[in-house]
Amino acid sequence: MKRREFVAATLGGMASIVAGASVQAQEKAVTAFTLANLPYAFNALEPYIDKMTMEIHHGKHHAAYVNNLNNATKGTETKSLEDILANVSKLSPTIRNNGGGHWNHSEFWKWLTPGGGQPTGELAASITRDFGSFDKFKEQFGQAATGRFGSGWAWLVKQHDKLVIASTPNQDNPLMDIADVKGIPVLGLDVWEHAYYLKYQNRRADYVQAWWNVVNWDEAGKRFLSSK
Ligand code: MN
Repeated sequence: MKRREFVAATLGGMASIVAGASVQAQEKAVTAFTLANLPYAFNALEPYIDKMTMEIHHGKHHAAYVNNLNNATKGTETKSLEDILANVSKLSPTIRNNGGGHWNHSEFWKWLTPGGGQPTGELAASITRDFGSFDKFKEQFGQAATGRFGSGWAWLVKQHDKLVIASTPNQDNPLMDIADVKGIPVLGLDVWEHAYYLKYQNRRADYVQAWWNVVNWDEAGKRFLSSK
């Protein structure tokens, strides 16, 4: 290879490396928030939550929140999702809705598990202390879930040393500075129609009743302890 050809080839190679790096940087900025896989199979929560609902809920609804959030935050200073939620009153409705949607669903998948169970340890003791009994807690939580008009969420929230039940509209959550009831979400239930309509149609109360069979109380217990 003549010297001129060598220089040209070397420069060409460097240019493609630099171009590759900038493509990678662009992709990184666009994909700041990502959709994690479910920690179980789509059909793992049958018969309580059906496979098709899980596929559409995760692969279409949650994916759309992630894409919309990435588009809405493109080119802005990178912030953590928690930071976005804590300052959401200063941000656009698009970021509020999709940032909330991404956080809520990322946690919702973890709050579900095949087989379900019952709360144990300190969380169980605190539920009994603050609501009277586990059954009374379930009744109050169920009322928050079925009573939420339109789309939203029901929450078990830790406020300092006390547990309270709350519900939020749309994709709002208790971490948002605009929330009526603020605190650490220990457990959350999605009561948007997209979460249950294929199997339960308009029977939201049946969906809530079935959901108790697949609650991941170990995950809720971890949230409760880590939020002290
Ligand atoms: Mn949902």
